[in-house]
Amino acid sequence: MKVVVDLSRCEGYAQCAFLAPEAFRMRGEEALMYDPNPDDARRDQVLRAAAACPVQAILVDQPEGRNVPAEASTS
Ligand code: SF4
Repeated sequence: MKVVVDLSRCEGYAQCAFLAPEAFRMRGEEALMYDPNPDDARRDQVLRAAAACPVQAILVDQPEGRNVPAEASTS
């Protein structure tokens, strides 16, 4: 599975590191380290961590370059 954390949003609340410590780890007070390709066996943990993030900084399995909603691409 693919994980992206928007580090410009991340406020270092560490909810993710608490819920999915194999995928997310705090380094120091506020810096977040994470595994961008966690094992699928950790999917539940990672989804729980993403849901718990207070600022919704964790994106799971988002195709790249698809930040625009599909409806916005009408020509
Ligand atoms: S829960 Fe969200 S805000 Fe907190 S450290 Fe993780 S990504 Fe950052």
